[in-house]
Amino acid sequence: MNESPNDFPMRSVDDLRTVAAQLGRQRFVVSNSRALALVSFAVVLFIVIRVAGDSTNRVWFLPVIAVLGFGMVVSIYSLLVRFRLVGVRCPQCNQRFGTGVHCAQCGLGQR
Ligand SMILES: [Zn+2]
Repeated sequence: MNESPNDFPMRSVDDLRTVAAQLGRQRFVVSNSRALALVSFAVVLFIVIRVAGDSTNRVWFLPVIAVLGFGMVVSIYSLLVRFRLVGVRCPQCNQRFGTGVHCAQCGLGQR
């Protein structure tokens, strides 16, 4: 049997470094979405109160609203990835990989 890197079936997602890296980032965002949203919100709120606590200028609402929007985007993205509506595609079956260490569709593993 010849062993070319394009031969199927693949043994692991880690054979494809870019996919493995994308999956790593995706998993990080999904499993830390609440922390990411809360921490970023707390940091922005802290800075705004610190810098402009006495200000009545409404422009200071903008960063707060922006970080709320960011938190919402992260949460919605995580939800969609969990339901496999968006996200990284499995290199073997071309379906959404999901958040596990194995492809939800074909079971291709990632170390
Ligand atoms: Zn798959």
